[in-house]
Amino acid sequence: MPRVVLATKHEKARLIAPCLAPLGYFIEESSSFDTDSLGTFAGDIKRTLTPPQAALTKARKACELTGSDWGLGSEGSFGGGPAPGLINWNQEVLCLYQHSTGLSVYAKASGPTSLQGFHGQDGLLEHLNQYPKQRWIMRRFEQIDKGLSADEIFELWQSHEANVDNIQIEPDLRAMHCPERQLMIAKAGQDLARRLSEKCPQCQQVNFVIKEKQPGLPCAMCSLPTHQVKLSVRICDGCAYRSPEPQPVSRADPKYCQFCNP
Ligand SMILES: [Zn+2]
Ligand SMILES: [Zn+2]
Repeated sequence: MPRVVLATKHEKARLIAPCLAPLGYFIEESSSFDTDSLGTFAGDIKRTLTPPQAALTKARKACELTGSDWGLGSEGSFGGGPAPGLINWNQEVLCLYQHSTGLSVYAKASGPTSLQGFHGQDGLLEHLNQYPKQRWIMRRFEQIDKGLSADEIFELWQSHEANVDNIQIEPDLRAMHCPERQLMIAKAGQDLARRLSEKCPQCQQVNFVIKEKQPGLPCAMCSLPTHQVKLSVRICDGCAYRSPEPQPVSRADPKYCQFCNP
């Protein structure tokens, strides 16, 4: 049974372990690598790597520092998504890494989030109560207090009542303090489980999933190619074997056709 070391300081193993247990992977948490050194949500340490690079770095460090053959890294990010500026977006990336083979499998999950900060006192209680179990950060000038419950926010607030204008409340986005991220990390764990259970028929390498999509599905009315997917291909990272997937439909709805429905 592969033992996988997850590099985290934020209690993520309990979210991912149940997804991988049925496949025989046992997840162990290690805090021997200071994952915060790659950057924090609060911004006190800047992030310089992309989320996949950060997840891979954490996974490799987990192997290096514990001697385990398998490492797992996780990195979350906010922003981007289909409607930047309108809808806040949370993406979670996992990277499973095997030291002896260099194999890396990336999994992800993403979705909208309504979490946001708060400035001022009117409506603060209602705002905090919308998110039970979510913890918060309080910033005033250079000082940052993290991991605060709604009650602790109020206590601190009372003691600073003289200059509340300078106080900014933000969600603490670290996994153990953010229920919305916990759900998304568990979803990424399910994506990882799916990738580990799809094996190449030629060489048995995992992650034999669809990695290429070709547009051009012909329009049902005029037969001209549309931007709809014509062909999906599973590709093996190990032996480069390619397997086209049967498409659920052979013709595109004319509403996607540039000629029939411009
Ligand atoms: Zn058409
Ligand atoms: Zn293969």
